[in-house]
Amino acid sequence: MRLTRNSWILIASFAVLVIILITTAVLRDTEEYVSKVEIALGTTVRVVIASDKNPALIIESVLREFRRIEEKFSVNLADSEISRINGNNGQPYEMDEEMAFVIERALTIAKATNGAFDPALGNLINLWGFDKIGDVDFKGRVPSDDAILAAVASSGYENVEVNGVYITLNNGVKLDLGGIVKGYAIDRGIAIAQEMDPKATGYIDAGRDIGIIGPKFSSDSWSIGVQHPRSDNPGEYLDVVYLEKGSIVTSGDYERFFIIDGVRYHHIINPKTGYPVVKTVSATVISSTAMDADALSTAAFVLGGEFASVILPSLGGQGLFVNDEMEQFTTEGWSFFTEKR
Ligand code: AMP
Ligand code: MG
Repeated sequence: MRLTRNSWILIASFAVLVIILITTAVLRDTEEYVSKVEIALGTTVRVVIASDKNPALIIESVLREFRRIEEKFSVNLADSEISRINGNNGQPYEMDEEMAFVIERALTIAKATNGAFDPALGNLINLWGFDKIGDVDFKGRVPSDDAILAAVASSGYENVEVNGVYITLNNGVKLDLGGIVKGYAIDRGIAIAQEMDPKATGYIDAGRDIGIIGPKFSSDSWSIGVQHPRSDNPGEYLDVVYLEKGSIVTSGDYERFFIIDGVRYHHIINPKTGYPVVKTVSATVISSTAMDADALSTAAFVLGGEFASVILPSLGGQGLFVNDEMEQFTTEGWSFFTEKR
């Protein structure tokens, strides 16, 4: 049988298409990822980027942003802006736009979670010392009941008054944005990378709190393991999720803690009792921004998995929660992320 001219054209076009597809696949797989790790905001920050522009410069800019945010939001630095707000003796303090933005979001999530997430626990966190747990001379100790009661009395987001750009801390409360600022830094890092190269792909991992800059090889999802809260093996996961955008953040009782007489005292405080939360060991939340995922994971940790798995979706989060008996709870939308797309 002789092929017509049209058939030859068809076969040739098909061959060209196959060659293009193969070349694209090969090129795609050779897209190179550059990464760098640095300590910032009390954790290990890894930036992983592929970009046709200048990936090393993008990484430097992202890490510089982390350092800038730490200098502004760390309660451990006497001249940080957050320390200046805390030290303003109950007088109105004029915030810049960025500080107002983060505090506004923190207060919104505090209200929405009925204070499970509370950005005004500075006195309690300072009393327990969890803000200094990384220091070499830190020694864990349990404060007296009286001291805890007094710190509970001078804590709580209801005492934070915001009028436009002015913030006033009533009743001696102090802010601690440790439960939200890492997420904010991840969001800023993503924004900077995307501004420098809208086609950049990769992710930012700040102590296993992860925000996606862009899909792997521009089209695949990143697979991310959810750390097993009681395993020493960093490769042992509770679950694996697939993300091509957005963010996943875990709050765990294994992150900052000390043990006295067999009792684990960790860094997530129940604002009502003033003691570290009991009955939850880890709370992982996926959300469109890392800032929300961060605050919501802390809130979910306090609320407990059973309750959190019901209310988190209405606050824009999907999650996986583990209680002290290692029972797992997930929101209804969680399984969407555990299937590779
Ligand atoms: P995360 O690891 O994101 O859950 O944040 C824990 C950090 O947030 C702690 O180290 C404290 O600085 C702060 N924190 C502790 N308990 C709470 C709470 N109930 N709400 C908001 N922030 C908290
Ligand atoms: Mg958090």
